[in-house]
Amino acid sequence: MITSPPNYPILTDPSWRSTWAHRALVACGSIMVLISLAKAIMGAAKLHLWFEPILVGLVGHVLADLMTGVYHWGIDNYGSASTPIFGSQIDGFQRHHKWPWTITRIEFASLSQVVAPAVTFTVLPMVLASNDPILHAFVAVCSGCIMLSLKIHAWAHTTKSQIPPLVIALQDMRLLVSPSKHANHHRPPYNNNYCMVSGVWNELLDKHQVFKALEMILFSKLGWRPRSWSETSSNWTEDTESQGLFNPSTIQAMD
Ligand SMILES: [Zn+2]
Ligand SMILES: [Zn+2]
Repeated sequence: MITSPPNYPILTDPSWRSTWAHRALVACGSIMVLISLAKAIMGAAKLHLWFEPILVGLVGHVLADLMTGVYHWGIDNYGSASTPIFGSQIDGFQRHHKWPWTITRIEFASLSQVVAPAVTFTVLPMVLASNDPILHAFVAVCSGCIMLSLKIHAWAHTTKSQIPPLVIALQDMRLLVSPSKHANHHRPPYNNNYCMVSGVWNELLDKHQVFKALEMILFSKLGWRPRSWSETSSNWTEDTESQGLFNPSTIQAMD
């Protein structure tokens, strides 16, 4: 009998499949985004107000990119698989660096259930408290981008022939992060291009070494050493040799 070494990805990994619990979490988050969007559109139509909602919607899109960058930087650099609440996400991102292709195999609800509860509990109070179309234009676009951020990340690892033409067009327009830009995150020195919606912040943050400055502050104040300072660590480097090695059908054929 052939068994895969521990921690290696298996092409039919059952954890990549969506469960009903995942679908329920993603449905709750998506409903919140859609209610907020409906409030924005209906309120704007009623007041004949379009410029401001579109403008704040764009601000929401830009801010969501920054939020994913800060989150991704934190998850990539601090904590471990045993860290409370974030442990499975930290482990998931480390595995993503080692086997980037695996993100393309994870089903949508299994992927997006990671961010769905945060979207639900952030948007719900605003849906209950306000009907302001301008507020909801911001909330709907920002939370929608966060809700889709991991799928947007997965598209940046997917070949063009396997993604919808609209997504390719949005990548070309730089409204979604492109595969060529995101590829830099997976190359030495493994400390840049953290933003995952449009990537619009990456150049500015990397040019001014904003995350490096935050890392220096955290190290000097709290003694926290980020993983990116150990760039030669096997945690960061892609394992290109095991791709497809543990496809059970391959193993059976070898048997
Ligand atoms: Zn990363
Ligand atoms: Zn990636």
